[in-house]
Order: sequence, then structure tokens, then C-alpha cells
Amino acid sequence: MLPLDSQFVRCPWCGERFEALIDASAGDADYTEDCPVCCRPIAMHLHGDDDAAELWVERE
Ligand SMILES: [Zn+2]
Repeated sequence: MLPLDSQFVRCPWCGERFEALIDASAGDADYTEDCPVCCRPIAMHLHGDDDAAELWVERE
């Protein structure tokens, strides 16, 4: 897979879907990104391996 990818996630605050850029080249990552719709902080958890990246979100 490409190291840079994007995935649609649903904001845990406002429920809107948006496209999040993910960088799976570094493997697992935890970071915070503000929702582009409601601007509230979303905790992003990325699990990456050789052929797939999985991203899930929760309220910060
Ligand atoms: Zn939101």
C-alpha cells in the first residue's frame, strides 16, 4: 500500500464524516486532530502494517 493514504472517519462529536489523511509509514500512531466540521479534538488511533491501515477515532 502507499505510505500516505486517506480514510473516511466519522467524528465522534458531531457525527459528520470527513476524510482524514493517514501516514502509515511509521506504523502505529496515536495523535489528535481537530474535526474540520465542529473543531473539537478527536483522538485518532492508527494501526498500520504491511498491507492495511486501520484508523479509529474516539472523543479526546
Ligand atoms: Zn465534528
